Amino acid sequence: CGIVGYIGINNATEILLKGLEKLEYRGYDSAGIALLNKQGIHTFKEKGRIANLREHIDLTIEGTTGIGHTRWATHGAPNRMNAHPHSSKSGRFTLVHNGVIENAAELKGKLLHVQLKSDTDTEVIVQLIEQSVNEGCTVEAAFRTTLEKLQGSYAIVLLDSQDDGTMYVAKNKSPLLIGLGEGFNVVASDAMAMLEQTNRFIEIMDEEMAFVKQNKVSIKNLAGETVERNPFTVEFNV
Ligand code: GLU
Repeated sequence: CGIVGYIGINNATEILLKGLEKLEYRGYDSAGIALLNKQGIHTFKEKGRIANLREHIDLTIEGTTGIGHTRWATHGAPNRMNAHPHSSKSGRFTLVHNGVIENAAELKGKLLHVQLKSDTDTEVIVQLIEQSVNEGCTVEAAFRTTLEKLQGSYAIVLLDSQDDGTMYVAKNKSPLLIGLGEGFNVVASDAMAMLEQTNRFIEIMDEEMAFVKQNKVSIKNLAGETVERNPFTVEFNV
């Protein structure tokens, strides 16, 4: 399983697909990408191999912001419905998640007022975020308060169709790195997935969130305090 994300200048489709192919070694049963442009979020997902996903992508749809996912099913059968990205009820928010939300059933029973579209633990996260926004929270506050409720492991990237300038990122006990480029930034479970784009990365620690924009990355802890961290360089031979 794995995650990739891109925000910048170029169309994200090929960058995301190539990134996912580099993560194939981690194993998966389905894959998907979501592209964000001025018209909104466009999601493509399929059971099976990335080659199969590739065939089902409409290349006329472009976006300079996008996220991708390979799934290793833990909650819900490995099929198209349960493949990531998952979207909120209204379609405003879309996210990818690696890991296991141990209290997903409890959160669903106690807190969620909407009907879920999939059998995954993941969908609970995106629905909780939208619910908090509907209750009056800013997106950042909704993201943070939802993360505070989660028990288990997660690497998450969230897109808001009303803001094509930000990727909302979070991590706890699942790997996730931010990659820094010139005029773009990326995220990935493994630096290897994005080495064609950059070799400068910033680590995100457990229970931290990051707001990744085209020219800026800011990291905060779950208390909302800003965290400063220097990037590191990955040396590699092509
Ligand atoms: N628990 C989530 C699911 O079953 C994410 C699995 C993964 O890490 O790929 O959909």
